[in-house]
Amino acid sequence: MVKPFIPQLVYVEPGALEYPLGKELISKFEEKGIEVRETTSHNQIRNLPGDNDFQRYRIAKSTLVIGVRKTLKFDTSKPSAEYAIPLVTGCMGHCHYCYLQTTMGSKPYIRTYVNLEDIFEATENYMKERAPEITRFEASCTSDVVGVDHLTHTLKKTIEFFGKTEYGKLRFVTKFAHIDHLLDAKHNGRTRFRFSMNDDYIIKNFENGTSSQEERIMAAGRVADAGYPLGFIIAPIYLHDGWKEQYKEMFEKLEATLSSSGKKDLTFEMIQHRFTKPAKRVIEKNYPMTKLELDESKRKWKWGKYGIGKFVYTDQEQEEIKDTLGRYINDYFPEAKIEYFT
Ligand code: SF4
Repeated sequence: MVKPFIPQLVYVEPGALEYPLGKELISKFEEKGIEVRETTSHNQIRNLPGDNDFQRYRIAKSTLVIGVRKTLKFDTSKPSAEYAIPLVTGCMGHCHYCYLQTTMGSKPYIRTYVNLEDIFEATENYMKERAPEITRFEASCTSDVVGVDHLTHTLKKTIEFFGKTEYGKLRFVTKFAHIDHLLDAKHNGRTRFRFSMNDDYIIKNFENGTSSQEERIMAAGRVADAGYPLGFIIAPIYLHDGWKEQYKEMFEKLEATLSSSGKKDLTFEMIQHRFTKPAKRVIEKNYPMTKLELDESKRKWKWGKYGIGKFVYTDQEQEEIKDTLGRYINDYFPEAKIEYFT
């Protein structure tokens, strides 16, 4: 069982101490005996301990920076939401295929923002622009926001903020089961709580440092019982010996755990495994022992964003994935909605 995250090293940016959450977090870490260093800005963090890139990468992933979010212009987050709400960047997990490896490059530490009121004010303004249309905000574009929330309760406050809005909805996805503190949040049905789910072989081999399949399934059952609209992102769908049986087992376990109310307002998103050439280079550097299959010759090449081509499964394999997993979802969860396969 993966324990809730505790940083090995904490940095604090000067402005962060002007906020109550900044002060609270610093005293919490000092009480625990964790080293707290001051930094003028997260961009100045250069002297992380470690003898080589491999070690420094691991230390960085267990380093927490307490900062102030200055850019209050939100990125867009199509198609599942209009905007990305910035609460945290970076993640303590070690999923071999994580997109953050390429987007965060040499700065993979976790940065949490303490100026929540500023972020909420910006969120209100975005909602006002579109009202009476609903505006959806995604909280996990640059992190696994649940992984650090037992320490900060930032996500919990955000869920409660959206609970009071008329035209806003929140969504996020997690691979962590440390959700106890979120169960009593006054969500008012305005947050879709999604779990990233995969077959047991894939989670065990490629998602180091995250909660097990069983822990995620149990957590999902409790989240549904707390009245949250629930969702699963099956991602990345990865073909390996026995994948059909393993995915079937996963759906069986889910079906057995969710109560009938949890099965009603349920969504599934399906994302096949893909990689780019730059991502392959980074994965091989950060996880040199990985068993992840990254052979371009076995894949189909597809144009990606920013002109960087990606390698996806062949058309025939994609059809097989869609048919097999689509059938399982229809059989086990006839009332659920499949949002997309990509
Ligand atoms: Fe990346 Fe998500 Fe894994 Fe964290 S849990 S390392 S964000 S894939």
